[in-house]
Amino acid sequence: MSRLPRGRQFFANPGPTNIPDSILHAVAHVTVDFNDPAFLKVYDACIEGLKRVLKTRQHLLMYTASGHGAWEASLVNLMSPGDLVLILETGNFSESWARMAEGLGVRVQTVPADWRRGIDIAAVRAALDADTAREIKAVCVVHNETATGMSLPVGEVRAAMDAASHPALLLVDTISSLGSIDFRMDEWGVDCAVGGSQKGLMLPTGMSFTGVSDKALEAHKSAKLAKHYFNWTVMLGRRHKGFVGTVPTTLFYGLQESLRRIEEEGLEQVFARHTRLAEAVRRCVRHWSGNNGPQLFCLTPSRVSDSVTAVLMPEGHDAEAIRRTCMGMFNVSLGGGLSRLNGQVFRIGHLGDLNEPMVLGTLASVEMALQLNGVPHASGGVAAAMAFLAEAAKSA
Ligand code: PLP
Repeated sequence: MSRLPRGRQFFANPGPTNIPDSILHAVAHVTVDFNDPAFLKVYDACIEGLKRVLKTRQHLLMYTASGHGAWEASLVNLMSPGDLVLILETGNFSESWARMAEGLGVRVQTVPADWRRGIDIAAVRAALDADTAREIKAVCVVHNETATGMSLPVGEVRAAMDAASHPALLLVDTISSLGSIDFRMDEWGVDCAVGGSQKGLMLPTGMSFTGVSDKALEAHKSAKLAKHYFNWTVMLGRRHKGFVGTVPTTLFYGLQESLRRIEEEGLEQVFARHTRLAEAVRRCVRHWSGNNGPQLFCLTPSRVSDSVTAVLMPEGHDAEAIRRTCMGMFNVSLGGGLSRLNGQVFRIGHLGDLNEPMVLGTLASVEMALQLNGVPHASGGVAAAMAFLAEAAKSA
């Protein structure tokens, strides 16, 4: 089933995300010398603006790389060969970060979790208490697991670490939460916050960064893993503090506009919009789940993600068929199931530059795709989402 793609594509992948026209225009900037004083002003303002989004007053280091680069920077700058990190299992992305750590020569201990229910904070506390030799050098947390549509309460992880009086560093992946879901680097005592350009910041892929605490910078001094491009000591010594190599100036012009948009709307209002649109998606999926239809993958209501919803197909039905129909017939791009969830779930991204009709158009396309593929469901999910959004608009 396919048609020629006409009309605007509804991009409902959980990253990269829609890039607003004003950011596209900002990125289409002529080449400038990255040492030009006018550009340096933009650069410095971007660093300060991004720190406000991270809610930190500490340090920021940036890389011309996707999020994987910032993951790697967080490990090579803070760990030595044979060090132990505690990874809290959330899904595909906690597993990938763990594999990267092992590949770099770091030992990994995992706090296991059911991907649908999420980690038990008591198990985190128990793992920290059991580490009487204080071997664990860092606790690694994916704030928002993009593969499962579940967030993890970072503040509760911090509280568990404090209650155990454990000195480990707290490393947090904010790649699919930053600029969409509240994240508080300093308040939660996060030592290294990993972020990327292509999700909540609504930018093209290609720039990532780490918020770094004073405590992490201190630990960095004795970290012995091999590093070169990502070396924080080198980066901090440059005029473009926190950047090595040719600075991707166009991405900074885009970031300047992204930060302007976020601050114009207000960070807390940005979060509220994400919560509202996410709730509409959830109401729709809960409605479909009648008649043994697709259901929310995340089973813990307090941890449902406001940036992405993973939808679990009924037994015997292929999630990829829904994605193919949405793309082929309606020019709607959905996310697929990652690693062991491939074919079982599809994902609706609802982060970044998004409003009600964009979400409703996506949901309507999915509902049609369910019909076209003979997937059991209670029809009327989109109407449930509309009813919720109309009610929410009354109080705006
Ligand atoms: N962590 C999370 C939570 C992600 O969602 C992603 C990408 O989707 C990554 C890490 C990897 O980032 P990148 O694809 O930018 O390298």
